[in-house]
Amino acid sequence: MESEKTLDLSKDRNKEFVENMFSSIQAKTSAYCFQCMTCTNGCPVVLNYQPNPREELDLLPHQIMYSVRLGLKDLVLESRMLWACTECYMCTEYCPQGIQVCDVIYELKNLAVKERKDLIPRGLRIFANTLLDQGRTAEIMDWEREDLELPDLSGAGDEVLQELLRKLGLPELIETKS
Ligand code: SF4
Ligand code: SF4
Repeated sequence: MESEKTLDLSKDRNKEFVENMFSSIQAKTSAYCFQCMTCTNGCPVVLNYQPNPREELDLLPHQIMYSVRLGLKDLVLESRMLWACTECYMCTEYCPQGIQVCDVIYELKNLAVKERKDLIPRGLRIFANTLLDQGRTAEIMDWEREDLELPDLSGAGDEVLQELLRKLGLPELIETKS
């Protein structure tokens, strides 16, 4: 995404997006954002991308909140901040207006998965595929468990999780092979 772009609200504002977002109790809270930037200043992801987080993340948390209100759907969904967010909830904890910043970001990600699958990062697809294929995201180190005198976990619950994820529709959501 370009770091600087002039927007024309008469064209770029998506009223349906605002209405849909504001139909959710969490997302509606973004209407009370007064742009104090406390969420952004306390965000560990933003901190990690200093000195130029805008260049790496496109929009910062406070800008996402304001853009939702303005109805800038494409700008928000294409923002790399959405996928960089670790859902730590620090922004929500710090916000003096009680805005559910992290939940709004969750909702935006869900929308992107539904409508803009091209935006799902490759790493996330690999993560989801590994869960579907193996029922876990990392190998269990048997020798470590033996050293710690822990029971063998091979196969424990893997198939149940795989089946659950399939039934929940994960393969269709991320359009994966499984
Ligand atoms: S902390 Fe809350 S009010 Fe301040 S910019 Fe962030 S979302 Fe808006
Ligand atoms: S939930 Fe996301 S946006 Fe909020 S502070 Fe954590 S990483 Fe930053």
